[in-house]
Amino acid sequence: MGLFSKEPKRPENIFIKGKQLRCRICDNTTFYSRQAQLNTPIMSLLDLDWTNKSATCYVCSKCTHIEWFLEKN
Ligand SMILES: [Zn+2]
Repeated sequence: MGLFSKEPKRPENIFIKGKQLRCRICDNTTFYSRQAQLNTPIMSLLDLDWTNKSATCYVCSKCTHIEWFLEKN
């Protein structure tokens, strides 16, 4: 319902290297996961094209702060 009715998935608890991911802004522990392509001209400009594939980002379900990870778990 409301603004988030189009979210395909429910927010979930995320674990990184065995530790639960917690939003550093609001202390929330549930996130939406997204894949982001990194092989863009901007990333090359920043000398980040060694990653050249995709990153995983987790969007806090409460405050929408985004945590980025370059490697998959
Ligand atoms: Zn948050």
